[in-house]
Parts: sequence; structure tokens; C-alpha cells
Amino acid sequence: MDTSTFQELHWLLDIIQSADIGIVVVDKDLNIEIFNRFMQVHSNIVAEKTIGQKIIEVFPYLNDEWFTRRVNSVFELGIPVYTTFQQRDNLFDFRLRLPIHHANSQMYQNTTFVPLRSSTDVVEKVAIIVYDETAMAISQGKLHEAKDELLILSRTDALTTLNNRGYWEERLKEEFKRNKRSTEPVSLVIFDIDHFKRINDTYGHSVGDDAIRYIAEALLYETREVDISGRYGGEEFTVILPNTDIEGATIFCERFRERVAANVVKSGGHEVSFTISLGVCLLGESIDSAHSWLVNADAALYEAKESGRNKTVIYKPAVAV
Ligand code: GH3
Ligand code: MG
Ligand code: MG
Repeated sequence: MDTSTFQELHWLLDIIQSADIGIVVVDKDLNIEIFNRFMQVHSNIVAEKTIGQKIIEVFPYLNDEWFTRRVNSVFELGIPVYTTFQQRDNLFDFRLRLPIHHANSQMYQNTTFVPLRSSTDVVEKVAIIVYDETAMAISQGKLHEAKDELLILSRTDALTTLNNRGYWEERLKEEFKRNKRSTEPVSLVIFDIDHFKRINDTYGHSVGDDAIRYIAEALLYETREVDISGRYGGEEFTVILPNTDIEGATIFCERFRERVAANVVKSGGHEVSFTISLGVCLLGESIDSAHSWLVNADAALYEAKESGRNKTVIYKPAVAV
């Protein structure tokens, strides 16, 4: 080797050592030949202790099918293999102290296995190159979280945190479709606060808002996890009761109506009591859309209002004569 080739090799080694990526070279027996500074810093193992050792002895957790299959295929096929952190968190289990998030994180890594050929074109060694993608993984994670939060927000009524009308209607359509195919009974309830305008007019809008919030809280107590409640309009609410026949729905409505009637909302120095009227409709054969299911329940609510309020009315399909 002449001096200039030697000099070039020296520079190349310097580059390998100081690159901000991990470089490990193994031979056919998986003995380590190169273990650069990045690898030393993050593994806490000095290069001298790794050179000539089997990589699966230095890192016993690499002794798995995934790693073995990958190295072997690069030796056999001579084609590089690339893995992203989305496919597998990492290859080397390195820990990072993150200054910004004041938390410890595993290092997320992209990895490439590159075949290194001899002058006779035989793959003699494999270089494993490791890229630290932790910052990218964290920001993608945050993006997912933000998307999830946005989705929840887009479905939530701000005043009550119940499902808003748009999302509740989606759920209504789903329940309609699902239950058309099953024999389980499912009931729909719509209710509205009686003489709510008086509350607003007498005590002011923010007392009215507290009355609406109280209804949402009371719904939490009275509904089961499977029930789907929503704020349908100003002081109008809806509840889908899966696996509930008309008797069950009536029991729910009456218990809820009595709870509301017995309660006093304390707000703005006032004590306000009020009642609600409810309409119920069991999903039956004659109902051909989610919309008409709701229209029927609303007709029952209208009847409850017309016939004196503070009561539950069950929708009865017209009997053909
Ligand atoms: P009824 O017994 O027939 O239901 O009489 P009502 O006075 O309750 O009549 P209605 O249901 O039509 O009243 C709706 C009122 O609710 C009108 C509107 O000003 C009020 N409202 C709607 N949304 C809100 C809200 O978010 N906060 C408050 N405070 N009031 C609201
Ligand atoms: Mg009302
Ligand atoms: Mg109303």
C-alpha cells in the first residue's frame, strides 16, 4: 500500500469514527470488525471489547429470528435491507436522555444492512448502519396525539362535553343499521327542558347554561356505558339505549325525569328547579330509516309537551285499519 492510499484509508476511518450514525461491520461468522464511536457512546461499550467478538454475544438480545434472517439474507442475496422505526422501534436498545421532554426515551432507529463485497464480488461482510430517528418518532407521536384530540373535539359539545349533534347522528345511523340486522331491542329517547325560556328570562343565560350542564351530569349517573347520549340542540338531548325494550326504556325515562324534577340547580345565587318531557321510540319493523326513528321519538316528545309536560310518552305506531 503506498502512502497516499494509506492516508486515504486513515481519513475514511476518521469519517466512520466521527459520523453521527452507528456503524458496525460483521464478518460471515458475525464477528464484529468495526464498532464506531456513535456505537460506543450509546452502548457504553468500548470498541476494544467488541472487536473479534460475536455481535450476538455483545448484544444477546440480537439473537433472534428477525436479526438472523436479515443478516443471512444480505449475505446470501447481496442486496441491502432497510428498516424504519415505524416497522420496528429499533435494532439496538439504546436509551436517551431528552433535554426538552425531561424524560428518558428509547432511541428509535432506522437501520440499513449493507453487503460489503470483495474484489471477487463475494459478500464477505455486512455493514449495519444505524440512524437515530428519535426526534422524528416523538414528533410523529405528538402529531397522532394531536389528531386524536382534534377528532374528539370535533365530536364533542363544548358546553356539556356530551356527543354533539353531528357525531350523535352518525352513531344513530350506525345503531340503526346494526340493529336492523339483529333481534335485540333498541330504544331511542329524546327529551327537552320544560319552559326553558323562562329560566333564561328570569335568571339569565348563564344560569340557563348551568341547568344544561346539570342535565349532562345527571345523564352520566343514569346511563350505562353502552348508552349513547348527545346534546341534540339548545336544551334538547337524545339517548340511544341498546339492548333495551320499551319497558326498560320507560323505567330509564321515568327514573331520569324524577331525578331532574327532584333536583335544585344552584347557580348565580339562585336555586332553580325545572322538569323535562321525554319521547321514546322502540326501533321496530315499520321504521325504515334512522331519520324516521328520530321523527317518531320527537312526535312522542311533542305529545308529552302538549299533554302537560314533565312526563314520558311512548311512540305508538299507527295501526292500519
Ligand atoms: P317547552 O317547554 O315547550 O320546551 O318550552 P321552552 O321555553 O323550553 O321552549 P324551547 O324548548 O323552544 O326553548 C328553547 C330555548 O333554549 C330558546 C333558547 O334561547 C334557549 N337556549 C338554546 N340553547 C341555549 C344555551 O346553550 N344556553 C342557554 N342558556 N339557553 C339556550
Ligand atoms: Mg324546552
Ligand atoms: Mg327545545
